[in-house]
Amino acid sequence: MRAVKSADTGPEIAVRRAVRALRRGYRLGGCGLPGKPDLVLCKRRAIFVHGCFWHGHDCARGARVPKTNTAYWLSKIDRNRARDRRSLDELGLLGWSVLTIWECETRDGGDLARRLAAFLNQAPS
Ligand SMILES: [Zn+2]
Repeated sequence: MRAVKSADTGPEIAVRRAVRALRRGYRLGGCGLPGKPDLVLCKRRAIFVHGCFWHGHDCARGARVPKTNTAYWLSKIDRNRARDRRSLDELGLLGWSVLTIWECETRDGGDLARRLAAFLNQAPS
């Protein structure tokens, strides 16, 4: 199991490609926002791309429990989830619309494109 999270993971690249296909610009690196969203777009929209294991998604991959160092991983995933919730709260208070895309949701390109289009085209709240 790799402990280092690569900045250019497959799911993130899939999301960036889909956003570009919609002809939207974005910035990487979080732009100083809470939780450092993976993609930051104009009109206060931000996108997180979460690994199912690291962020404890409610799916088969997210439910997988490592057989070694179990307590360590579980507490790490717990902390990630708590931080994710906090970031969403803080971004909401700052007036940002946030979309979280899970790794397992990036495999179907058509589905991903539809979700991104709906998110990016919705009227500002
Ligand atoms: Zn998942």
